[in-house]
Amino acid sequence: MKPAAFRYHRPRSLAEALALLAEHGPQAKLIAGGQSLGPLMNMRLAQPAELVDLNSLAGLDFVNENEDAIEIGALATHHALATSPLVRKSCPLLAEAAQSIGHYAIRTRGTLGGSLAHADPAAQLPLVAATLGAEIVAAGPRGERRIPAAGFFVSLMSTVLEPDEILVSVRVPKAAPGERHAYLQFSRRRGDFAIVAVATTLLVDKKGNARNLRLGIGGAEDKPVVLTDFASGEKPDAVARKAREAVNPAETPRVPAVYRRELVEVLARRALLEAMGK
Ligand SMILES: Cc1cc2nc3c(=O)[nH]c(=O)nc-3n(C[C@H](O)[C@H](O)[C@H](O)COP(=O)(O)OP(=O)(O)OC[C@H]3O[C@@H](n4cnc5c(N)ncnc54)[C@H](O)[C@@H]3O)c2cc1C
Repeated sequence: MKPAAFRYHRPRSLAEALALLAEHGPQAKLIAGGQSLGPLMNMRLAQPAELVDLNSLAGLDFVNENEDAIEIGALATHHALATSPLVRKSCPLLAEAAQSIGHYAIRTRGTLGGSLAHADPAAQLPLVAATLGAEIVAAGPRGERRIPAAGFFVSLMSTVLEPDEILVSVRVPKAAPGERHAYLQFSRRRGDFAIVAVATTLLVDKKGNARNLRLGIGGAEDKPVVLTDFASGEKPDAVARKAREAVNPAETPRVPAVYRRELVEVLARRALLEAMGK
């Protein structure tokens, strides 16, 4: 199918893009990589009258390093995240998860900002942003605001972004010295969205026990679930059981809730063992 008719805008500055959103209100829709919005428009599930293309905004595809965080522009592609030496060194979980998104052609067009704003509950980048405690920067007519990823995702494809705001960058804390990570997902075919995905970061103490454990779960609910309330040295089996109990998946025709729960437990255990090097 082809999209419904729309007017195309190509603003040259953030101020111009914000002015277009303010002018056209709910009729306007931003487009970045177009890898989610394009199919939705082709199927006429989205029919924006005004399409505001962000791709001519200079300086929104950066990857910078601060003392304790990596700052990434909204237009940085999945491929840029997966291959950036800075991201690979300081936020290796983010690089690994970005590398697992879809296929090469999608990764070279899809953007960090687009993925977070689209808020697919099975997507890699929302899961990793929530797991790592990232901070999302949005610009709007009232100025800039910083939103913790934990409070950014509201439900299926819904975030706290206002219709007149643009996600401009993301601040991802650097991995602590010695921090280990794992990202695992289960999908029907390579390149498909995950049915369930799990991301974890942890430290391993001298006795080989996990501490400072963070466990993120994607695909099980309508937004990422992040668990951090674990005792030092908690064993992978116990963590995996807690993860299973923490999620409340919906019954869907193709994937029963009990199956998703089982996947959460199995993937959580495997991710912990992998991160701990066992
Ligand atoms: C075949 C296929 C397989 C895929 N597999 C996966 C997968 O396995 N995992 C995965 O995570 N994704 C997958 N994707 C989706 C892909 O990652 C998209 O790139 C991503 O979801 C959206 O990024 P985008 O830049 O393409 O956004 P767009 O499609 O351009 O926009 C998506 C939404 O975000 C909004 N938006 C975009 N940028 C901004 C911004 N800066 N501020 C505010 N709102 C904004 C748009 O208005 C729109 O509502 C797949 C896509 C395809 C076509």
